[in-house]
Parts: sequence; structure tokens; C-alpha cells
Amino acid sequence: MDIETTGLDLNNSAIIEVAALLVDGNTIKQKFSSFVRYDEALPETIKRITGITEKMLAGGDPLDKVIANLQNFIGSRPVVAHNGFSFDFPILERDGLKLNGKEKYDSMEFAFFVLPTSVAGHSTEALAQYFSMEEVAHRALNDCKTTFEILRRLRSEYGKKPKNNREALNHMAGYVGWWWAQFLTGDSVQIDRISDLIPAHQAYRKTNVDQGMLGLGSKKIDLDEIKRYFFVPEPQDGSIPSDYREKRPEQEKMALYVGAAFNEQRHAVIEAGTGIGKSKAYLVPSLLFALSNGIPVIISTHTKVLQDQLFNKEIPHLKETVNADLVATLLKGKKNYVCLDKFDKFGDDLTQILDRSLYEFGKAGVQYTSRLAYLLLASWVLETERGDWDEIPYWFKSKIPKSVEQRICNVDELCGPDICHLYDKKQCFLAKARLRAKDSDLVIVNNALTLSGIVVKEEAADTVESVTLEDDVPAAGQAQKFDHTVFPGEAKYIVFDEAHHLEEDATSAWEAVISQAGFELLMEQLFENGRLKSIVNGIVGAKKSANVKFQADSFFNQKKDLDLAVYSLFKKILPELVAINGPRGYSTHSMIDEIPPSQTKEDFFSMLRDLRHRLAGVADSLKIFDPLASHEKDQKIISVYCRNVGRVIDSFDIFLSGDQGYARYLERSGDTVEIKAEPISVAQILDERVYGNFKSVILTSATIAVENKFNFFARRCGTVLENKTKFKYYLLHSSFNYIEQVNFFVPKGINYKENKDGHLEKCAAFLEKAIIASQGGALILCSSYDQVENLSKRLEAPLSKNNIWLISQIKNSSVTTLIRDFKNDMNSVLIGTQSLWQGIDVPGQSLRSLYIYKIPYPARFRPIIMKRCEVIDKKGGDSFAEYYEPLAALALKQGFGRLIRKRTDKGIAVLLDENLLNKPRLLRSFPDGVDPQREDEETICAALSELKVDKV
Ligand code: SF4
Repeated sequence: MDIETTGLDLNNSAIIEVAALLVDGNTIKQKFSSFVRYDEALPETIKRITGITEKMLAGGDPLDKVIANLQNFIGSRPVVAHNGFSFDFPILERDGLKLNGKEKYDSMEFAFFVLPTSVAGHSTEALAQYFSMEEVAHRALNDCKTTFEILRRLRSEYGKKPKNNREALNHMAGYVGWWWAQFLTGDSVQIDRISDLIPAHQAYRKTNVDQGMLGLGSKKIDLDEIKRYFFVPEPQDGSIPSDYREKRPEQEKMALYVGAAFNEQRHAVIEAGTGIGKSKAYLVPSLLFALSNGIPVIISTHTKVLQDQLFNKEIPHLKETVNADLVATLLKGKKNYVCLDKFDKFGDDLTQILDRSLYEFGKAGVQYTSRLAYLLLASWVLETERGDWDEIPYWFKSKIPKSVEQRICNVDELCGPDICHLYDKKQCFLAKARLRAKDSDLVIVNNALTLSGIVVKEEAADTVESVTLEDDVPAAGQAQKFDHTVFPGEAKYIVFDEAHHLEEDATSAWEAVISQAGFELLMEQLFENGRLKSIVNGIVGAKKSANVKFQADSFFNQKKDLDLAVYSLFKKILPELVAINGPRGYSTHSMIDEIPPSQTKEDFFSMLRDLRHRLAGVADSLKIFDPLASHEKDQKIISVYCRNVGRVIDSFDIFLSGDQGYARYLERSGDTVEIKAEPISVAQILDERVYGNFKSVILTSATIAVENKFNFFARRCGTVLENKTKFKYYLLHSSFNYIEQVNFFVPKGINYKENKDGHLEKCAAFLEKAIIASQGGALILCSSYDQVENLSKRLEAPLSKNNIWLISQIKNSSVTTLIRDFKNDMNSVLIGTQSLWQGIDVPGQSLRSLYIYKIPYPARFRPIIMKRCEVIDKKGGDSFAEYYEPLAALALKQGFGRLIRKRTDKGIAVLLDENLLNKPRLLRSFPDGVDPQREDEETICAALSELKVDKV
């Protein structure tokens, strides 16, 4: 069955058409189709997508009659709808269809099972495209037929899976009692473990290269060769988009700068204004350099979104245009990978679960139970190459219990060669990713992993995660103080994209955090996890010594006292030192130096010292067992645990030392309080660990310079500390013609500073008129979820009346889905915060106006911001001019950059705060040609009405 509605909102959308097919095997026996009478104006988007008009609906039956007819048509049979669990079923049940007692099934679930790694997704459109089916108008009956045909093709597609995988899946599907199992073909064979069917890593082409002979980047690339790749003729099949092929002088310049920096083994800071196409500009020279030297070049990003985009979009273009054989690896932190060992155990545990239900229907929609989640995930595990949890589509993840992810994704420390048999067999996804990185030309990674993985050399050698083991290449020339726990040893050339986040990322990577959750994990690893226990018990059994037995007992007996101390610290003492959260659940902070002296504060420090002392005792007693263990593997495991305890002790030491280089504070979120110390300046650490450790570091972003100068970035990120010849700075202006492409307005009378309380109402009133004038196509950027919610409440009804769909970002919503919906509906409005200031790329008319709610100054209450300002002021500086305002300037430039994404784009930007005009530093930070005009509402709305998109 399928329905057409007036929108996608489950509560407010009305059904306008219903259809169903009665099928038997491969035959359609009967059809049902009916319009539902609807007397209001239809949204333009719906008319455009479906071709349904008000006139058609005027002749439809009343809703209750259609539902009754459909009920008769279904009778007592099971029903199937595509995406039915999330859309069709709840809407039909809302309007009176009785499905509760009947079997209802979602063909999207079956599609995931058959094609779990489909990049395009599992919607009807994506599947129809996958099977090269003819496109038909979106009408309910058409969609029923399409779904039926998709199901037939999915069944035959299933037959193409490897025989062993199919047989194992058939058995599991039958075992858990899955309704769709009846459509699966082939034998059914029980297997012991999923991991038995997972292929081992196959080395890529570099296997036979003698790594010791590699020049580690000594072979220069021909810069003239780079130029060849910046005009690519149109291929026959149109597979390379025109914006990737067109000649852009600034892009070519940037590529040459990157190539020269690699050749000369020096660093570069490059601001590449919007439209230059900086990804290609650094990827091409990186790839050429990697190929000519036989070493991987690292590309590091702030967001996983950009990481995925580079891997899924840019790399295929590079293959088309530069080298078809290039090898690229997407490398993520451990917790992103499904752990095969855990997945095997998950399967074992299912035999203990007696409850055979597969679905739980609740207010929030359907949830798969663990049994079903295991089956569907097993299909994915058997097919995925990377085992990356982010590959799994959001719609699917939202249906499985959160506990499943925690259960099978890797947060365990015990991974690595000689410790886990699946790592040694090269079947584990984490191992495969890291081995593949060694064989790669380009390794795409995020800053969190890049920065936190840089450790002093001795520590890396002791790190079980490391793949830089036996065949590691010693760095040529200089003695290296640092190494990387994850990157291949020869990876000494790195590009940081989104470099405007470098200070923030480095702060997070090198902060010290003491949390109850961290302690609980450590306690579990030390005292409850069977591995350490069995090693220690094994030693006791083998040594048969009273002293060893005594040592083992004393070790395990420490748990009780530690538990008590941890409970008392986190549940009794800390909550007294930091205020409860604000009314909207904002986290609250207490700077430790500002908490007045009290008995509780004294108790806090004395408890910290006591816990630190106890942890040192734990580490000492663990070390006793190290030489007693007879297997190297056991010694390695003990040393991993010792290191983990050592890391927690380090965090205590940073906090207890009172080091003024850190912002030391307590942070409360709900009932949880954490103890934190963040480095106030990361300049020195970046200089030592990054600029001094890599041969060439490229730092790039569209927003690095403030007022066209690099001073702010150089100071904050420490590039100024390097020898002047080591860093070069390049400013490449945007390739857009902003004078022609943008009108920038500041509405008269809207001033945040002068009227903070009334700002919301004024903005809402203005936005309503402005958005209706342009008929949507607007992005509204706010600075907090509060602003998003308050504005949304005021705008939703009036916009909806005008057929404009307001898409609001709520916490934890999928940005990808929000952007996709916004792109697809020319008349929609997207309102959001933080992640939308930079993570959104919508060229064309879907985004034709941009509204910024206020000047995006950073939140003053954040301890690290306060401390940084304080330090600058104490040294006689002006924190507002030197730190606070430059941050706002960069954020503003980022947000503004969302509007124009192509040379053919035209749009209007509006900043809802006329105070901007009094801020020369901010004004000078916009690209050339951007000149905000203070205008009245009518003039702005008249300009916006010119942007209306022609209705279809
Ligand atoms: S090495 Fe780690 S992630 Fe890989 S299978 Fe073993 S425990 Fe799991």
C-alpha cells in the first residue's frame, strides 16, 4: 500500500490519495486506488511532486469512507508499505485504519537486508534507480507497483550474494522468526561465528615495495604536471561534474602552493575563499606527491561530514581525472568500527534470549528488538568493507536500540596485534583500516584522531593500536620525538582542512577530563573484565606461591575502596560545588580557582589526592604481575592496563598541579559532573607535536584570515612560533563576484544590543514577511537551540499557511537529512544552529536567501573562552579586539559563505542586527564586494520577492 499526503509531518499532514495492490506470488490480483476529498489549497511542492491538483481532489471521497474501503480491501491479510513503519502505517492508523491486530511489514527493512551497503539509500526512488527502473510520477498506485517490482528484484538480487553468506543469513532469518525469511532463496546453514565468513585484509599494491628504500618524500613533483589536472575535458558519460572540470585560476595557484610546500618540506597556511574548490586544489598535489614517493599523504578534517564527502565524492573524481588506481583510506577513531569479536559475542548471546518478538511499537515509532537488529546487522557486517558505523543509514540506526551500538562498537582498549586473534588474522575492521592506510596514497582522517594520536615516541612503541610496528620506517634525517599511534611511520605530509577549527580541536585533543563514566570503564577493565582476572588467576595457579596469591588478592580488594571513593567524589562532593543546570538544561560551570574556600572544596582536593594515591597503588600492584606472566600476550595486556591507569593519573596530576596554563573547572550536565582542565594556549603544543613533527603541514580553510591578515590565526595556532622560513601564508580570494551575486541588507530598527528582550519578536515579524516575499528558499542561522525553537514556534503557522515548509533543527537531528529535505523543496526554510553555519552546501535556488539572527560572538560563559580573555587582558592586551571579536568575524564569514556556492548563484543575505554597521573589524572581514546596506523592511522584502522561484 501507499499514500500521498500534503506533507511529511506525521501529525499535521492530510492523506490525499490511497492505493493498494493485492498480490499473490508474482501476480497482481486486484488494485485499490482512491483520492481523498481535500478542500484546502494544496502545497505547491506536493502538486509538483505528485501532479495531483485541487480539482482532482474535489471529486474524492471523504476520508472515513476511503479508510473503510481500504479496510475491506485488506481484509485479514498482512500489509506491506515502503517506509511504512515511519510514515504510511502511523498516518493511516491515526486516521482510523485498524492495523494493530494485523501483520504489517516494511519493505525498506527487506531492502536493507538485501542491499545493506547501498550508498544511494533505500528509498523507493533510490532502489528504482539502482534497478534501472523507469521513472514514473509519484502517485499512490504507481508507487505500489514500483514497490512490488522492487521487491521482486530484491529477491533475485539476494541470489547474487556469496553462497556461504546467503546460507548463513537464511539460517539466522529463520531462527529469529523473521517474516521476510519466506522470500529468501537457497539452503540454510548454521555457522558458529559471523567472523568465520569475513575475508582477511588483502594487501594493496605496495606490499612488495621495500619500505626501507622509500625516500620519505625526497622525490619532488613536477609543478607543471599539476597544472595538467586543472582543466579536464568533458568525459563522454558526463561522470565528472562541470564544477570539477572548469578552469579556476585561484584553484590552480593553490595546488601549486601545496605542491611547492611538499617539495620544499615546509609548511603553508592558505585561506581559500569560497568557490575556489580547495579540496581538489590540495588533493591533486597530495596524490601526485604520494604516488611519486610511495608514501601516504594525510588529509585531516574537523568534521566527519567532510571526511565522508572527500572519500565518497572527491576521491571518485580524482580516480577519473588523475589516477584510476589511487588507493584512499577513510580512517576513523576506534569507536566508529564494529568490533567483530563483540559481534560474535552478540550472536552467542541471542541464543539466551527467549523473547521472540522482533518489533516494539511505541509513541516514538517502531523499534527493532535485539534479535532483529542482529539479523539485519549481520547482513551488513558480511558485506561492508570498512565496518564503519557511519555507513549505516540514519533511518535504520534510529530503529535499533542504542544499547546495540554500545555493545558492538569498539571502545575497548584491548585491540591490536598479539592481543586479539581477529586482529592477527587481519579480519577485524579496525585492523583492516589501519593496514589499508599503510598501503594508501591518501589517508582521510579527522582532527580528533590526528591530534590525539600524536604521542611521545616511547609511548607509541607501547601502544597496541599502532600499526607502525615491525616494518615501521624510521624517519629520515632528524630524530623524531613524537610518533603516531595510528598513522604509518612514513606519513609525514599532512593537510588540515577546516583549519579554522585547529585551536578548538587541539584543545579537545589535549584536555584532561576526569569523569565518573571514565572511572567506571577503568574499573570494569581492571576488576570485572574477564581477561585481566584470568591472567592474574593464571599466574597465581602457575606460581603456586602464597606471596603471589596475596598480591593478587590485594590487587582485587582495592576495587571496593576505589568504588566508595569514586561514589563519594562524584555523587556527594562534586554536586555541591557546581550549580544545578539552568532551566533549559544548559550545562553549568565552576572555575575551580573561583570557588570560595569551604570544607567541601577541601574535601574535594583531599579526595582527588586520595584517589590519585590509590590509582598509583593499582598501577604498582599491576606491574608486579608483568614479569610473572609467562605469555608475551599477557604481558602486553597488563602493560595496556598499566598505561590506561597512567593516563588517568596524568589527568589528576594536571588538575592537582594548579598549572596556570590550564582552565581548570567543574562542568555539570544534568546529574553528571566532570572535572576538566583545558590548555589555555595550544600554540606551543601544536608547534612541537605538529609543525615540528611533520615534514610538511598545510593548513587551509575558507576562513582563516581576519581583516585579510593571518596574525590572529598565527598567534592562536602557534605558526608564528616556527622559523619564518618554515611557514608561508597565502590569501586566495573567493572566485565569486559578490558585487553581482549578492545583496546584503541590515534591516532598520532591528538592533540586538539595544533591545535584547524584544529582538526575538522583531526578528520573527520581519522573517515572516521576508520569507513569504521570497516564497521560502531561506536558511536562518541562529546561535543556539533556544533561538531555533523560539523562532520556529512563531514562524511555523504563518509559513505553513503560505505553503512554505519550515524545517527546524532539533538536538541530535541528522544534518544530512535536514539538508536533503531543504535541497529537495525549493519553497522550504531551514532554521538551525552551529553545524549549519559551516556544514551546508546547497548550490542553486533552493538556498536563495540567508538570515543571520545576531552577530555570532562566542558564548562568554564557556570557561576556556573566559580564561583566554583573562590571560590576554592580564598581559595588557585587549581580549575583545584580539580574541573575542576575531572569533565572531570568522564565524560570520563562515555563515555568510553558505549563500553563494556557484558562479551562477544569486541571493540576498540579511543580518538581523544593525549593530553590525558599527563594527569596522567585522565589516572588513567579509569578502571584497560585500557591502551591507541599512534598509527598511519594505525595500528588503521587495528585493526578496524578486527571488521567487517560478511555480510548476
Ligand atoms: S582487534 Fe579490537 S576491534 Fe578488532 S575484533 Fe579484536 S577486539 Fe574487536
